[in-house]
Amino acid sequence: MSIEPATIKNFETGVYRPPSEGGSHSLLIRVTRNCPWNRCTFCNMYKGEEYSLRPPQEVIADIDFMAAICKQLSALSRQLNYEGEINRNVAMAMLNKDPTLNSHAGFVMVYHWLLAGGKTAFLQDANTLIMATDELVEVLRHLRESLPSLERVTSYARSKTIAQKSAEELQEIYKAGLTRLHVGLESGDPALLQKITKGVTAHGHIKAGKKAMAAGFQLSEYWMPGLGGKAMWEDHAINTAQVLNEINPHYIRSRPFYPAPGTALCEEHDSGEFQQLTATEQLIELKLMIENLDFTARVCFDHAGNFWRGKDGDLLLSQSYEGYQFPEQKAAVLGLLDEGLQTLQWARVTGWE
Ligand code: SF4
Repeated sequence: MSIEPATIKNFETGVYRPPSEGGSHSLLIRVTRNCPWNRCTFCNMYKGEEYSLRPPQEVIADIDFMAAICKQLSALSRQLNYEGEINRNVAMAMLNKDPTLNSHAGFVMVYHWLLAGGKTAFLQDANTLIMATDELVEVLRHLRESLPSLERVTSYARSKTIAQKSAEELQEIYKAGLTRLHVGLESGDPALLQKITKGVTAHGHIKAGKKAMAAGFQLSEYWMPGLGGKAMWEDHAINTAQVLNEINPHYIRSRPFYPAPGTALCEEHDSGEFQQLTATEQLIELKLMIENLDFTARVCFDHAGNFWRGKDGDLLLSQSYEGYQFPEQKAAVLGLLDEGLQTLQWARVTGWE
């Protein structure tokens, strides 16, 4: 079999995807570039980067290149008597036939995606739903037809954008194959949402979350422990829990605050205007928030920022992408948070902190 250079070329991938999409080796398909909002005062992900939509035909061409890699790996596997199995020998054989693939930006990603079963894809960048509905539907249909092994296709979405789509449009997008939305809730506290320039109210988050779920999407809401600092932690904890209770999403995911360089909140932190919580205070806030949760979601701590340690020195909270099922495991999580607080107290007494 010969590899035809004209059939495979570089395609675009963005930098960011949620941790759970990295864990499942999701295929990354860049549908838009950067963030159309780009004003949240804690976020430096796309600072200085210009937002743009990609023409659907360009995205479709990228999908075709990915599918071409899959097809040719599969043909090579059969030729080498691996009966379609993708393994290192197959990948090496393909690289030997076409050495230009050694510097191909997406070849390794597609190979690892296939090794992981080829089941999940993530549409980049920060707010895919901002695309015109008919164009997004066209891209999704093409993706599902070209790569039929996909079981889950996910994307980030802003609450504001979800609210701007009609219920019918959301259903059409879901039926075309986008199955899970990751939303940056950050907080349910109205004053804090305003302070960080999230561009959405607590009520707006609730409305959008319910609307997304009514259309059929699995909903994953990210919140940011520590975002309120010493001044607003209590309202942040209680109001975030209340908003999440109202939405009752499938997942909530903790992505703890840190002062990201180049952000307005980092400047406030450096000047002393914003006072960051200590590790102990972070756990106290987390405990208050968890105590106030009264829903049936899975609670996940799958971001590396959930750093607290337990008494044996291991990570306090599981970083599983499926997290803890509430309410069944609520008492267990609260017990772990108490253990984390005791561990920090012990560290202080013994001078380890
Ligand atoms: S919407 Fe998301 S990506 Fe955009 S600035 Fe806010 S947190 Fe960052």
